[in-house]
Amino acid sequence: MSALILNGNKIAAEIRSELAAEVKALTAAGQRPGLAVILAGHNPASEIYVRGKVQSCEELDIFSEKHTPPDTVTTGELLRLVDDLNHRDDIDGILVQLPLPPQVDAKKVLMAVHPAKDVDGFHPMNVGFLSTQRPGLVPCTPAGVIEILNRSKIPIAGREAVVVGRSDIVGKPVAMLLTNANATVTICHSKTHDLPGVCRRADILVAAIGRAGMVTRDFVKPGATVLDVGINKVTDRAEFDRFFKGNEKREETFASKGSTLVGDVHPEVAEVAGAITPVPGGVGPLTIAMLMVNTVKAARMRRGTLAPV
Ligand code: NAP
Repeated sequence: MSALILNGNKIAAEIRSELAAEVKALTAAGQRPGLAVILAGHNPASEIYVRGKVQSCEELDIFSEKHTPPDTVTTGELLRLVDDLNHRDDIDGILVQLPLPPQVDAKKVLMAVHPAKDVDGFHPMNVGFLSTQRPGLVPCTPAGVIEILNRSKIPIAGREAVVVGRSDIVGKPVAMLLTNANATVTICHSKTHDLPGVCRRADILVAAIGRAGMVTRDFVKPGATVLDVGINKVTDRAEFDRFFKGNEKREETFASKGSTLVGDVHPEVAEVAGAITPVPGGVGPLTIAMLMVNTVKAARMRRGTLAPV
């Protein structure tokens, strides 16, 4: 039996259409949400991500502006820019695209973003709000994982959840959100003993590792829900064959582009899981959608029009 495919593109489109109505209402009330993106220096991958974020704002009619300081920007200059944006009433969200140039103290810059405008949800104040279940801004990719589960009507409360990965931006906040939703959560990492055995306990398995296809079928309890956060580029033919041999659609992409994407979960897992997010088109599309959600949420929280949850 093959798994139900959890279509992230469809869920992200649903979220965007709900948000569009909210943005329209806020704009009519003279409170159009605004996002400022800081893209320092030249990094081709960052430029693509930022383009997607700005485009998404345009589609939803959220105000956006891009700041592009040069590669030589200093920590002090970025701190002044963040301070200026913190004080602007027309800006609700500030996103500092990472990585920053190496001479910049990235932690200092991220800490300078006002927590009420921290739409990435990385500021320790928002981390604290999340862990104490107070209203705040939640990191986008982890929030997207929960949206996929909720909107696919996959129950969380009382279930065993295993999260592989403990980064501040994905693993830890996903684990916290699952805990807040009453799952029994285990966090795994590179020092975990018998990783496949621990993962096999999971009703809900989240892979946020950054290792192509590492989660194979022996990690997965039959019928489990698997959320694959990983995004890994495959350029090597032997590696391609290990994941996609005989897959005509992937063959076409690989032949034309010389690469394809694979998650942290091996595609063979779709044969044992009950439900699974594909890569691409699973968790990825939710990340930008949740950034838009956070921008609107930040606008409403700052103006006191969002009831505490
Ligand atoms: P990260 O900061 O590198 O963290 C990776 C985590 O995986 C670490 O906790 C590490 O353990 C653990 N790990 C590494 N090798 C392992 C192994 N062999 N066994 C068990 N655990 C292992 O990565 P990240 O930023 O969380 O990102 C994870 C993946 O998600 C990447 O592929 C990234 O591209 C992707 N991502 C996707 C989105 C999206 O929008 N879909 C957003 C963000 C990230 P230790 O702590 O012990 O080192």
